Amino acid sequence: MKSVKNIDSFGRAHTYARVSVTAKCNLSCRYCAPCAQPSACAGTKAGFGELALPELLGVIRALAGIGVEKIRFTGGEPLVRPDIERLVAGAKAIPAIKRVCLTTNGVLLESKAAALKEAGLDALNISLDSLDPVRFKKITGSDSLAVVRAGIDRALGLGFKLKINAVALADLSFEEVDGFVEFAAKNQLTVRFIELMPFCEDGFAKTAFAPIRRIENYLARKYAPGNPEADGVARNYKINDGVIGFISALSHPFCGSCGRLRLSSRGVLYRCLFDPAGLDVKTLRDEGAGTLPEQIRTFLAGKKEFHGLSSASPADLKRVKNSMRLIGG
Ligand code: SAM
Repeated sequence: MKSVKNIDSFGRAHTYARVSVTAKCNLSCRYCAPCAQPSACAGTKAGFGELALPELLGVIRALAGIGVEKIRFTGGEPLVRPDIERLVAGAKAIPAIKRVCLTTNGVLLESKAAALKEAGLDALNISLDSLDPVRFKKITGSDSLAVVRAGIDRALGLGFKLKINAVALADLSFEEVDGFVEFAAKNQLTVRFIELMPFCEDGFAKTAFAPIRRIENYLARKYAPGNPEADGVARNYKINDGVIGFISALSHPFCGSCGRLRLSSRGVLYRCLFDPAGLDVKTLRDEGAGTLPEQIRTFLAGKKEFHGLSSASPADLKRVKNSMRLIGG
């Protein structure tokens, strides 16, 4: 395959692709679900048009052809895909792909962790917004906190490198923040607080958004962890035996160093979560994969400098929210 450069017109090298493998999800998180009442979404076409395993691996090969080295499978919920282990193994078998990672809500992790390890998965991010069963249910609509925690224990037991991601909603108490600090130290892992991206056109974000600085200041006062270390898009603080990180797309945009591409579960490539238009790589691949890396390269050259979230119109926000599961968070 002909190698083409992966650098956009602002000098950013793109070596990382987030690949949504399904739009289906087994949770209905309040800030992410396609509508406020999950039951009203039952039977929608969210899962239709998903790329099959050979199509997905074909696109990943084309991405590897422009210099992508790291793949993260996401969704929707990637573990609801019955062939997820084969996808991981297939991506790992592509020589240019150095790391294959996965982001999950952990509901199916206890039963899938061993097979994922066997398939060669390098690392797992697990989304866990609360350690309190009542608040967990309020956010996700599910009683599965204990199941998720069992999945985390199983993954740790198998030697997986884990990061926990928690969306820091306004009702996240400092007491619960302390609980996450203790959880990170006890399990010697990283918990990252993520600022809510406010694309909830139903008004939810108006009361649920809180700047991430609120928690960062609290931790600085209580634990005096010193200066943070940069880790990709996160600012990480070592506290006791754990690491606490902060990610904020709105208050501290990281566009200047963004080297991500995003593939939707329907096979459309985006340069940013907020990209108004994508490249339909599924159709291009079906027409003959030969020129795909060059077409991706041309598309990449048009990537905007900033995501524009703070100036997005209500229509933009609605579009991004509706496509969150397709594009993958
Ligand atoms: N189902 C998987 C999971 O829960 O990790 C993968 C997909 S989920 C869309 C990926 C991440 O996006 C999760 O950590 C979720 O919390 C985050 N996310 C979704 N909507 C968000 C929003 N409005 N603001 C911030 N993070 C969001």
